[in-house]
Amino acid sequence: MNIHEYQAKEVLRGFAVPVPRGKAAFTVEEAVAAAKELGGPVWVVKAQIHAGGRGKGGGVKVVKSIEDVEKEARRMLGMTLVTHQTGPHGRVVRRLYIEDGSAIERELYLSALVDRATSRVAFIASTEGGMDIEEVAHKTPDRIKTFQVEPAVGYSPYVGLEIATALQLKGDQAKQCGALIKSLYDAFLAKDMSLLEINPLVVTKSGQVVCLDAKINFDDNSLYRHKDIQALRDLDEEDPMEVEASKYDLSYIKLDGTIGCMVNGAGLAMATMDIIKLYGEEPANFLDVGGGASKEKVTAAFKIIVSDPNVKGILVNIFGGIMKCDIIAEGIVAAAKEISLSVPLVVRLEGTNVEKGKEILAKSGLPIVSGSDLADAAQKIVKAVKG
Ligand code: ADP
Ligand code: MG
Repeated sequence: MNIHEYQAKEVLRGFAVPVPRGKAAFTVEEAVAAAKELGGPVWVVKAQIHAGGRGKGGGVKVVKSIEDVEKEARRMLGMTLVTHQTGPHGRVVRRLYIEDGSAIERELYLSALVDRATSRVAFIASTEGGMDIEEVAHKTPDRIKTFQVEPAVGYSPYVGLEIATALQLKGDQAKQCGALIKSLYDAFLAKDMSLLEINPLVVTKSGQVVCLDAKINFDDNSLYRHKDIQALRDLDEEDPMEVEASKYDLSYIKLDGTIGCMVNGAGLAMATMDIIKLYGEEPANFLDVGGGASKEKVTAAFKIIVSDPNVKGILVNIFGGIMKCDIIAEGIVAAAKEISLSVPLVVRLEGTNVEKGKEILAKSGLPIVSGSDLADAAQKIVKAVKG
């Protein structure tokens, strides 16, 4: 799960991470009131969307008067902000963050993530922070350094010092950096983050090390134990179909192709998408109904798939293990009847009770095409879609 910058900064404040003062605003009036409360003399008006690159897209403005706060707030609220992370459709700005302006001396980059290769929390640091970090990663990757935290030891001042050195911070600033790394590491673990990115981390003209931007991703599997984090979810930032899918515990990601997929298991879902491409079509979605899909889940999955107007055919690829093929087949038939399916449907079943399952499909009276194996099923649905 993703949250907004202002929410991320609030979370980090709870761990004594240095961030500028600021206030969220949902209206122009609130933005002006926030600016007055902060007092100036420099404010930053920041569009809150779940994507970075706002600065370059016109979603971050440094201003020096209340009138300009008002002007920028009016311009940004309701605008569709397009950045290199939003895709061409952009995101509608519904929230703003009004923040104290910092006098910046240097912009650095710092992030923490779960490094899958080493199974550790890793910090990534670079002296080349700010809005061009993607270009740095591309052109001069040697300027980006990675540091692993040994889980049995946790944060140690040694790691803090190493990172401070990589960021060319000395003396008191190195000390601030050490304290910061410790706080970020504590926050990362306590809140089950999967990504914490501070870009830029700045050194101000008065020598303070401060986080000017904050992006956090949380591990969805841990959300049940963080009610405070769950409350920060902003459904406006999510695809409505993905929100619907999450209600049924379905892993659904919308894609741009024409063949809707319903599969159990993420690996099998990936293989199914691959084979659709191999035979010349594109998948309309990734959908993993999981191991224990009930009839209700299968029905919900069908509804979500067909609500996508791009879907011209559906491929169901289920391996009956814990869940038996006949149960799946009953679910498919019930769902197809309930939603009066109007696009071709090819089903490939394999595993426990597969014969019973196929019989249920055949006797249903519905125009369901059976696939003998994955290749056969994929070829059949591609052919049906191509007409
Ligand atoms: P994004 O990463 O989406 O572009 P940032 O929050 O990183 O948004 O802001 C972009 C740039 O705006 C920063 O690199 C920094 O130069 C400037 N900026 C952001 N917040 C402040 C602030 N509080 N004071 C001064 N400058 C800021
Ligand atoms: Mg940034």
